[in-house]
Amino acid sequence: MTDKPKLAVWKFSSCDGCQLSLLDCEDELLPVAETIEIAEFLEATRAQVDGPYDVSLVEGSISNLHDLERLQRIREQSAVVIAIGACATAGGIQALRNGRDVGEFVRTVYAHPEYIDTLANSTPIADHITVDFELRGCPINKHQLLEVISAFLAGRQPLTPAHSECIECKMRGTVCVMVAKGEPCLGPVTHTGCGNLCPSSNRGCYGCFGPKETPNTASLADRFATGCGVEERRLAEMFRGFTAGAEAFAREAERHDRS
Ligand code: SF4
Ligand code: SF4
Ligand code: SF4
Repeated sequence: MTDKPKLAVWKFSSCDGCQLSLLDCEDELLPVAETIEIAEFLEATRAQVDGPYDVSLVEGSISNLHDLERLQRIREQSAVVIAIGACATAGGIQALRNGRDVGEFVRTVYAHPEYIDTLANSTPIADHITVDFELRGCPINKHQLLEVISAFLAGRQPLTPAHSECIECKMRGTVCVMVAKGEPCLGPVTHTGCGNLCPSSNRGCYGCFGPKETPNTASLADRFATGCGVEERRLAEMFRGFTAGAEAFAREAERHDRS
């Protein structure tokens, strides 16, 4: 028992990749670790310290009733809750099932579907509890994660940009793949944070950081169709990736499914 602020890391339906981003901080995490008590972080330690917690990082989406009850207990015990990653902020890859018959998937995949207890949709954390901050990405950017943890431990708002991937290209002088090569790129509607990975490697963005604020997906999809020759069915698939459950992308995918 110490009087240091308590940090807890929780996992729901996910691949653990965002928690691994925290472990990947290595050198940067050591000074932070001296100032906090890691109360719960099963990827890193078996130690489990009872709440209340000062900051809870929540990875993963909500996909069954047990998750939902556990999440509500975490909210009650945490002063600050931060959702980390595409699963926690947009339902993740698991949200590809949303709007489909999940029962049919379960019957197809499992030899004993009667043991599977799942909700019809995979949903982000903020659909169920109040979230103090959402950090995008699949996986998250470790430098942004350190900034967010440090900010909340210091009682200030995190300094993480909210602009689109296109702005990142302009700031770095990256040649636009849509203009130069006619390749479709989701950068105009995608939240920044990855470090401009795909365009700076000469390929289009596929949106793993999810939609930016006020994305004009309809206009971009029209441009993909007329300027890049993307077929209607492919348009739906493009908006249904790692952040399929994000409202703006889900709506755009559905628009092309129906047409
Ligand atoms: S957001 Fe991506 S990396 Fe993070 S837990 Fe989900 S699937 Fe894994
Ligand atoms: S490459 Fe993509 S992200 Fe970069 S400027 Fe062009 S459309 Fe925007
Ligand atoms: S898909 Fe887009 S957001 Fe994801 S790493 Fe590539 S450029 Fe960044």
